[in-house]
Amino acid sequence: MIPYKHEPFTDFSLEENKKAFQEGLKTVEAYLGKDYPLIVGGERIMTDDKLVSFNPANKEEIIGNVSKASKDIAEKAMKVADETFNTWRKTEPAMRADILFKAAAIVRRRKMEFSALLTKEAGKPWNEADADTAEAIDFLEYYGRQMLRLKDGMPVESRPGEFNRFDYIPLGVGVVISPWNFAFAIMAGTTVAALVTGNTVLLKPASTTPVVAYKFMEVLEEAGMPAGVVNYVPGSGSEIGDYLVDHARTRFVSFTGSRDVGTRIYERASKVNEGQIWLKRVIAEMGGKDTIVVDNEADLELAAQSIVKSAFGFSGQKCSACSRAIIHEDVYDTVVARVEELTEELTYGDPTDQSNFAGPVIDQAAFDKIMGYVEIGKEEGRLVAGGEGDSSKGFFIAPTVFADVAPEARIMKEEVFGPFVALAKAKNFTEAIEMANDTDYGLTGAVITTNREHIEQAREDFHCGNLYFNRGCTGAIVGYQPFGGFNMSGTDSKAGGPDYLQLHMQGKTTSEML
Ligand code: NAP
Repeated sequence: MIPYKHEPFTDFSLEENKKAFQEGLKTVEAYLGKDYPLIVGGERIMTDDKLVSFNPANKEEIIGNVSKASKDIAEKAMKVADETFNTWRKTEPAMRADILFKAAAIVRRRKMEFSALLTKEAGKPWNEADADTAEAIDFLEYYGRQMLRLKDGMPVESRPGEFNRFDYIPLGVGVVISPWNFAFAIMAGTTVAALVTGNTVLLKPASTTPVVAYKFMEVLEEAGMPAGVVNYVPGSGSEIGDYLVDHARTRFVSFTGSRDVGTRIYERASKVNEGQIWLKRVIAEMGGKDTIVVDNEADLELAAQSIVKSAFGFSGQKCSACSRAIIHEDVYDTVVARVEELTEELTYGDPTDQSNFAGPVIDQAAFDKIMGYVEIGKEEGRLVAGGEGDSSKGFFIAPTVFADVAPEARIMKEEVFGPFVALAKAKNFTEAIEMANDTDYGLTGAVITTNREHIEQAREDFHCGNLYFNRGCTGAIVGYQPFGGFNMSGTDSKAGGPDYLQLHMQGKTTSEML
């Protein structure tokens, strides 16, 4: 087996790669506006009630009309997944892993098409779309290999005359609920982690990006996944979410999304409903209020570059995005001035145009929420860059920077999830770390410093799941920087890490007398 290595990013400065992406766009354009069915037990079910997926850069452009699951269809899918579990759980882990490897090969062949679809459906600029597709491939390759490591369980001791084993067995039916911001990578990663470990799945993708999930279902089918193992049940979270989470046959929920929905799922899943014979497990990856700390002994150009790239890449719509920077007072004015300059240079607009650094935000609700925070920011800080938005054609917001923000300000505490960063001043490094920790979240963080002691201090005291030194706070790579946060950022799980698959299984001890 070739050792795992992450999928390289595409160099779009090369003419051949530019052309390939444009070909990808053409492929996608040829299937825009189609109707898509649900998939339950391999059966395609077309419903009249549809989710309309549109291009956030151009509201008029319909990406697809996707059939919505009603409660009846969700119930049918649950039955199918429950029955299929009886056979799927007995399949060889190596066979399941092979499906993932084959799926990775298929996605790799269709890489530009998938990335182009993300550009259209999620508004991702080329490089961000390419990274999303690469991450999906990484999850397939990594989790396949992880399963091969776990298939024989873990070693335990045996005394003379006995033979003890410790094996991992799957849990049952998992409800996978995914977000739109990594519409491919997270949707695919959470789905295949559940299925490679021998569980069956009800996949409910985000309502804004259901087409890419449908295309991935086709890939899994082509790769040999039997009918009924993953059932595709798109639908509005508020309409069928509770139903799926509450169901007595739901064994676990794998959720990625906002804190509000995550805590709701966690609470509901804790209730033992009639007919339920287990305590449900919840894997939740939620929001962040991610911070870059800049020390006075630091490469200030690197600091400004890291803030701007981490704050505005994919318009700040990453759970890992830099949403505030806390800067030592000695270098504060210099860093703020450079952040302002770099932000003013950014271009944003239609993401199909490669020259744009950033695209739109996902929808009207996101646009309104972020513009609401711009108004709050005007009360709480000094507007340094951006602050304008235009939702007439697509949902565009200028990269926005507020400086001189007090630690207790709302824009220093709440997740904005848009092209928006708050800058604040700290008296010294210790105070900067304290301010960074002053949040309910704990997802990512970065420290820019040349002071070795401060690196070690932050390693110990900066409480976040993914802490980076002398770089930005986004861009975790599967298998290299396992990803997931503390506190209200989730259930402390680490996607793309060596202990992630075990969350989808339970340990069984057998002891035989010889
Ligand atoms: P969201 O609104 O919470 O939606 C996430 C998913 O939950 C969607 O599929 C949504 O369906 C579904 N949902 C909504 N209401 C539900 C309910 N009552 N029961 C069950 N499911 C329900 O989040 P989002 O806007 O898609 O994503 C942005 C958030 O995700 C941010 O907070 C971001 O930080 C977080 N995030 C975290 C990570 C991480 O790894 N920690 C990664 C990515 C994103 P509908 O689309 O139909 O509403």
